[in-house]
Amino acid sequence: MLPDISKANIEVLHDELFIQKQVTLSVLRLDKIHPAVSGNKLFKLHYFLEEALASKQDTILTFGGAYSNHLAATACACKALNLKSIAVVRGETPVTISHTLQESMDNGMHLKFISRQQFSKKDDIDFIDDLKKEFGNCMMIPEGGYAPAGAKGAALIMDLIKYNSYSHICTASGTATTTAGLLLAVKPVQMVVSLPVLKGMTDNKTRIKELTESSTDFKNLLILDEYHFGGYAKKTAELIDFMNDCWVKYRLPLDFVYTAKMLYGVIDSIQKDRFAKGSKILCVHTGGLQGNKSLPLNSLLF
Ligand SMILES: *Cc1c(COP(=O)(O)O)cnc(C)c1O
Repeated sequence: MLPDISKANIEVLHDELFIQKQVTLSVLRLDKIHPAVSGNKLFKLHYFLEEALASKQDTILTFGGAYSNHLAATACACKALNLKSIAVVRGETPVTISHTLQESMDNGMHLKFISRQQFSKKDDIDFIDDLKKEFGNCMMIPEGGYAPAGAKGAALIMDLIKYNSYSHICTASGTATTTAGLLLAVKPVQMVVSLPVLKGMTDNKTRIKELTESSTDFKNLLILDEYHFGGYAKKTAELIDFMNDCWVKYRLPLDFVYTAKMLYGVIDSIQKDRFAKGSKILCVHTGGLQGNKSLPLNSLLF
């Protein structure tokens, strides 16, 4: 059985600032679905898993780094569906294994570590052929579900919203697959706000065209790219303080890699009047809370 997506709910955040700026801010809590297969990952995997089952594949092979929520989610979902899972992991075999990879292994995932240099060539035909020779005929899912099927799966997130009168739907962005999925599903009057967590990610629009298989740019896409806090998985004391503040004020747990940066960027943008009066903002909590286990002990109040 796959995790139950009906556990996701929408919570309204209360704050003087939002009253003063005449906006509302709600959070779609996809993190509540499951501790490991949380957030957007299960959605991005949806059509891949469906196809694997329909075509009677018994093994899924995918790619990611040591802190990849995608690997943790794939391992857990495959276990639930009785599929074997293999991960090709960026970087040589480490001395101590990350929590994320340990959890993936505990769910039966087989790990194959390759050098960063080899990993950068993972999409080459020769490399793919070698993998097929080594592991047999398995279904391959690109890193982070980056493919049109992944975006179509992410589009299903919008089905969770019953009364959809939001003016803005905001998400943290890694591969941009979730952003692309939201763009496929929202109404043309709704803005999708993407907050990249990688530094210098300038190819968002190209990615989104590829993922949505469309030839033109989306007019309802807003990219706020100044909230990466130094780059992927980088953090500052200010970010950690912000996470603790959100816990105290809203009882909202955030992860430091994605959702904290997203919400920080959204609230900072409210402060800076980037959202018009009357905006009804929905932030997608894409999960990832298990990643906080890599923070020093006692950094967080939750
Ligand atoms: C993977 C992940 C994202 C990024 O999703 P993309 O579709 O790759 O842009 C955002 N938030 C969390 C918590 C994630 O784990």
